[in-house]
Amino acid sequence: MQDNPIKIAISLGANLGNAAETIREAAARLESSGVRHCRLSSLIRTAPVDCAPGTPDFLNAALTGEWSGSPEDLLRLCQDLEVAAGRPRQHGINQSRPLDLDIILFGGTVLRTPELTIPHPRARRRRFVLEPLAEIAPDWCFPEDGMPIKRILKDLKG
Ligand code: ATP
Ligand code: CA
Ligand code: CA
Repeated sequence: MQDNPIKIAISLGANLGNAAETIREAAARLESSGVRHCRLSSLIRTAPVDCAPGTPDFLNAALTGEWSGSPEDLLRLCQDLEVAAGRPRQHGINQSRPLDLDIILFGGTVLRTPELTIPHPRARRRRFVLEPLAEIAPDWCFPEDGMPIKRILKDLKG
């Protein structure tokens, strides 16, 4: 455990089952599992990207909070919650899922290991990640270049 809690941002997505309920439940479970001061954004409906024809729309949201463990501990918690929501541990890329939790930011950490890349490598080009995150943390900056979320989102829209 680290002494100082680190500010973290997680992207939540779901397109199977009761997605809104699953996302709210996941946020509650993150809080009860040690993510302090959780803030959950609005839920937005998003058309699927790079998915098979007929894939149901996604609901997406973002959550910020504070975490006192390691990034790997947080990934394990996220994966346990995905499995608890009914997602198989082994799954295909871009498959429909009852819950997907991605770690977008972990304080100012930049990390690249086989299991974990932080910041999330595709976050900056995804409106469905940045839009909800900009609602709750517009001035938080990506560590590599210090660019604030609201500016990345504005550039992406432009
Ligand atoms: P994408 O990553 O493009 O959003 P996905 O979320 O559908 O796709 P998954 O199948 O959920 O991809 O995850 C694949 C692997 O990504 C996980 O097993 C995990 O080890 C790894 N991973 C790397 N960086 C991260 C991160 N920042 N947050 C969550 N998982 C990550
Ligand atoms: Ca994802
Ligand atoms: Ca994921």
